[in-house]
Amino acid sequence: MYMGISKTPYFCNYFVTYRCNSKCQFCNFWRNQKLLNKPDVKLSDVKKNLDDLSMMGVTVVDFVGGEPLLHKDLPEMLSYAKNLGFFVKLSTNGLLYESRAHELKGNVTRIYASLDTTNADEYSVIRGTDAYDQLVSSIKCAKSMNQDICLISTFTDNTIKNIEQIASFAKEFKINIIFHPCFSYFGNAPLSREHINTIKKYFWHPYIRMSLTDLDFFYNGGNDIHKPSCLAGKSTIDIGPPNDILIPCLHNCTNTIKINGHLSSLFFSNEWAKYYRDVGRMEFCNHCSIDCYFGLSYWDKLHHGFLKANLSYLKTVIETIRPH
Ligand code: SF4
Ligand code: SF4
Repeated sequence: MYMGISKTPYFCNYFVTYRCNSKCQFCNFWRNQKLLNKPDVKLSDVKKNLDDLSMMGVTVVDFVGGEPLLHKDLPEMLSYAKNLGFFVKLSTNGLLYESRAHELKGNVTRIYASLDTTNADEYSVIRGTDAYDQLVSSIKCAKSMNQDICLISTFTDNTIKNIEQIASFAKEFKINIIFHPCFSYFGNAPLSREHINTIKKYFWHPYIRMSLTDLDFFYNGGNDIHKPSCLAGKSTIDIGPPNDILIPCLHNCTNTIKINGHLSSLFFSNEWAKYYRDVGRMEFCNHCSIDCYFGLSYWDKLHHGFLKANLSYLKTVIETIRPH
């Protein structure tokens, strides 16, 4: 019998490489030699794990990195996942999209690319690479190919000043942009609480999306280790190079389990609950607000954020059907 609130997991973050072609200020992947020393995932392992994830009830797989488009076999992974019926997400910095678009066509349900400024010089400072024009070109390319694409703006105290420009960009390009606060996980400064309210002011802005429940959760200090709401290992499973389950989560991984072709049997074993026993209760979990592990907790029980979760969902639906 599966533990916890969710009967089946819903989401898999599939980290296909830790290598990246950017050096973002709010990320430590590119500075972390331990991660960079790990070889990329192999296509054969990914296919086997996707079969297992499907059997386990996972419906959404997010192919992520590092920069996933650096993996030569990514198109085949995406295509395999699409054929299994997953909602296939690709989270990318967008820089290589245009050069690989023809290989990806038809195999990604939705692309998520990052945009924190509309100023090319500032982009170079924030992202550590002089590639703003490349990103814009990739966005135009995706739109011209009718690829569903959504941008994500991760605001820090330095970039929150760009919020109005970015909202205008969304309108001009007729593209959905998710507004999102920068969280802390390696000693980096999270977005200040006062700016959460700045983000919320854009809730009804056309093409802008956000989760009010995530923002409230962030504002109220994130996870409480005495009353944890983290669903790592329940709603969300992290898999990363070379072929490991990342426990409890990528950003604070304290243990890795080698999958070796046994993902579903591991999941249905009694051991699984033990791997994730302390999720949300560890010292580093205090005030954690890494949102992909908490979202379903607003839906799965009579959470005080249930109504706001519904309102955010309604706005997302409105923005998804707005002309693009
Ligand atoms: S693009 Fe993503 S993985 Fe790469 S440095 Fe930036 S935040 Fe990190
Ligand atoms: S609370 Fe945060 S750090 Fe702790 S397991 Fe969950 S996602 Fe990871």
